[in-house]
Amino acid sequence: MVYQNNLTYAQQQDEHDELKLFRNEFLIPRHNGHDAVYLCGNSLGLQPRAAKQYLQEQLNAWEDHAVEGWFTGNQPWLSYHEGLLPSLAELLGAQPAEITIMNSLTVNLHLMMVSFYKPNSKRYKILMEAGAFPSDQYAVESQLRFHGFDPQTAVIEIAPRDRELTLRTEDIIQEIEDNADELALILFSGINYYTGQLFDMEAIAKAGHRAGAMVGFDLAHAAGNVPVKLHDWDADFACWCSYKYMNSGPGGISGAFVHQKHFSNNTLNRFAGWWGYRREKQFLMQPGFEAERGAQGWNVSTSPILLMAVHKASLDIFEKAGGIIPLRTKADRLTAYLEFLINDINTQVGEEVYRIITPQDIKQRGSQLSVICKRNAKDIFNYLSDNGIIGDWREPDVIRLSPVPLYNTFTDVFKAGEALFKAIRAINL
Ligand SMILES: *Cc1c(COP(=O)(O)O)cnc(C)c1O
Repeated sequence: MVYQNNLTYAQQQDEHDELKLFRNEFLIPRHNGHDAVYLCGNSLGLQPRAAKQYLQEQLNAWEDHAVEGWFTGNQPWLSYHEGLLPSLAELLGAQPAEITIMNSLTVNLHLMMVSFYKPNSKRYKILMEAGAFPSDQYAVESQLRFHGFDPQTAVIEIAPRDRELTLRTEDIIQEIEDNADELALILFSGINYYTGQLFDMEAIAKAGHRAGAMVGFDLAHAAGNVPVKLHDWDADFACWCSYKYMNSGPGGISGAFVHQKHFSNNTLNRFAGWWGYRREKQFLMQPGFEAERGAQGWNVSTSPILLMAVHKASLDIFEKAGGIIPLRTKADRLTAYLEFLINDINTQVGEEVYRIITPQDIKQRGSQLSVICKRNAKDIFNYLSDNGIIGDWREPDVIRLSPVPLYNTFTDVFKAGEALFKAIRAINL
């Protein structure tokens, strides 16, 4: 692909973009009277225009039916989640029965570890990538302590090689094999939040199972961003949040995947609640927990319908767009264009002022590029913000920029590149 560093070229790409109308489905934040260049969908996806309506419908149902809303109206709340499962299952490569929509991400990580981290005195270690998202680290540490293990010795963190910034699949596999006798669980992110590296989840799951461990994935940065095939890859469990690439609102509802092969496994612990009870008997209010078949059996509490309504507004857009494959095709081009523009700045300046740490290989990344600013990083980030380019900042010197195919344009990406270039001059590096 030959890219060009000029506005006309970017505008032409937008004209030919078959997904361009989907931008109208979102509310784009404004900056000084213009649309901002929002490249922060990795942190908080934009609001679907229809979210208000979906929410209003459920507020109306509450107004009209009050408690009867659970059973009556156009979309009785008791089965409201069923309308979300097919599109969500499609995005995650799961069967609808393998998915449940509940809680928030870290809570679900804990619930899944209650079931799938089953240590004994020989096999108790948890392997994860070094530099995993802090909440995942805290969840793992506290689970270990809960079982009486010391995180210092029970967590195996795999780090990049010397002078490398991302992990090699072969090193991950090797680490799994080297620890095969002691591994109880492998918990990896699908995409590392800091580097933007997309891991080979299938290979990790295979190696993990060969080693006799359970394998779970945190898909916070992968869900709605890259194609995922949880069922075929044979993941034991997975969790995600919906507020990043799935555009379902701040603190939006999360979800969890449990592989079908575990549906009849009665040896798994679980922290149960009445919303995971067998559906046909849930309201008999009998003592003694009986789990609903499938991932639904991991539910704990009453469905938060208002959060689900916003989630549905977003999932319906994914469905209209034809799912993740066409979105990924556009996203690969948007991200490659951003990469081209950043490299072009280095060429023009005559030195590497920006270093992209996200892998060049498109099979190892999603939409996000993580960019190290060699000097005056925070000033550059502030310059971008002052000029309506919204990315996000990670200490000590990284800016993350994520063009999202549903609402970002080639022109957005061009403007971001232009601002990164002008920042160098403005800050007088
Ligand atoms: C965003 C993110 C979280 C956030 O978890 P919450 O429980 O939703 O606050 C956790 N883990 C990863 C990997 C993330 O990217």
